[in-house]
Amino acid sequence: MTAVTKYLLEESQMPRSWYNIQADLPKALPPVLHPGTLQPIGPADLAPLFPMELILQEVSTEREIEIPEPVRDIYRLWRPAPLYRAHRLEKALGTPAKIFYKYEGVSPAGSHKPNTAVPQAFYNAVAGTKRLTTETGAGQWGTSLAFAGNLFGLEVLVFQVRVSFDQKPYRRAVMETYGARCLPSPSTETVYGRAVLEARPDHPGSLGIAISEAVELAAQRDDTKYALGSVLNHVLMHQTIIGLESIQQMEMADTYPDVVVGCTGGGSNFAGIAFPFIGQGLRGGKMPRIVAVEPAACPSLTRGKYAYDFGDTGHMTPLTKMHTLGSSFTPPGFHAGGLRYHGMAPLVSHLKELDLIEAVAYTQVECFAAGVLFARTEGIVPAPEANHAVKGAIEEALRCKREGRAETILFNLCGHGHFDMTAYQKYFAGELTDETYDEQELAMALAGLPSVPAA
Ligand SMILES: *Cc1c(COP(=O)(O)O)cnc(C)c1O
Repeated sequence: MTAVTKYLLEESQMPRSWYNIQADLPKALPPVLHPGTLQPIGPADLAPLFPMELILQEVSTEREIEIPEPVRDIYRLWRPAPLYRAHRLEKALGTPAKIFYKYEGVSPAGSHKPNTAVPQAFYNAVAGTKRLTTETGAGQWGTSLAFAGNLFGLEVLVFQVRVSFDQKPYRRAVMETYGARCLPSPSTETVYGRAVLEARPDHPGSLGIAISEAVELAAQRDDTKYALGSVLNHVLMHQTIIGLESIQQMEMADTYPDVVVGCTGGGSNFAGIAFPFIGQGLRGGKMPRIVAVEPAACPSLTRGKYAYDFGDTGHMTPLTKMHTLGSSFTPPGFHAGGLRYHGMAPLVSHLKELDLIEAVAYTQVECFAAGVLFARTEGIVPAPEANHAVKGAIEEALRCKREGRAETILFNLCGHGHFDMTAYQKYFAGELTDETYDEQELAMALAGLPSVPAA
């Protein structure tokens, strides 16, 4: 007999505020710089792209920011999200550790992304925005923004990275079901997209290019704003509802994590589960070990440089200090599309520099093996991105086994893999290989980092 495996919160226990880690940082974030003047930017510089409320959240140092009622109302469609104890996975591993996972795949898009898509659409609608542009890789973010934009009466235009657009036609169909328009990027609808296609007509696209296209259109029109699904401070803050719920659920389970694990693409789901725990530690509570898991084929935290860089390939964004592989770096076409970004959230990068978090990188085949073991024990088929977190948690559990330690491990199962079954088919056919990036390309991309004089 297995004991209770599921920790559910009442609707009334859903957090009323997001947590802003900027209130508790031992050292403030380095400033965001204007790419021309190299001077710190102010809120007005971002106004063509984002509504003021989100810009203010970006720079806020208030610890708690209230979740507006219309946002909470939509969150209630799937939140509070469940937290499970992975008894069967523990047993299969023979570990003395307790493994818990927070499941974000219960949202309409199947991942954590609607946690920020909904407030971003809300603040835009309140500010009078008519149209949102964005990029998407695997399609999770585009789906989430299509869902949220529709609920607030906004038009949504999604630039989807070409390889994913071709590989995952069902994602586009879901975006269209929610009323959005989805184009393959590079596209012919922007100056930047046309330039990329001219240089290379069969360009597979990248997140950095798709961001440039979406930003270009948003900057041109007053009624059009841009929405980003990760990386920015306000995005990470919206995701903290994951960790805030988890804190309550760990209390229900009568334990507290020794280790918190999340996968990192741009850093948002990782921040979502980890920041509330780090915050408790910074305010004098117990500080768990925090482990970020990234793909070995796009290893910004473990192999990148901590430096000022552009967020996009077309160099239209401000410069932020982050772990980066260089904005011209195109990762190989591995299957965790959501983890194919050249940079890392400035907040996550900053915490890494402060030694408050650790980072590890795993290759895709070992991550799929972990995901399959998880599916066969716990029943949920994880997204390829989430397989990295599963792998990270399993490695921690096996370490506990070797050391004979009954630690508590918590990880974020950030999404299900129902739209990624082609990747699983390839895995079972033995066709999935460990793609590696080109060292020379990485060296070149890093050599091309903008030069910014030390502050
Ligand atoms: C987008 C996505 C990611 C990567 O983005 P983060 O900002 O690092 O969370 C990871 N997992 C899933 C399921 C995603 O959709």
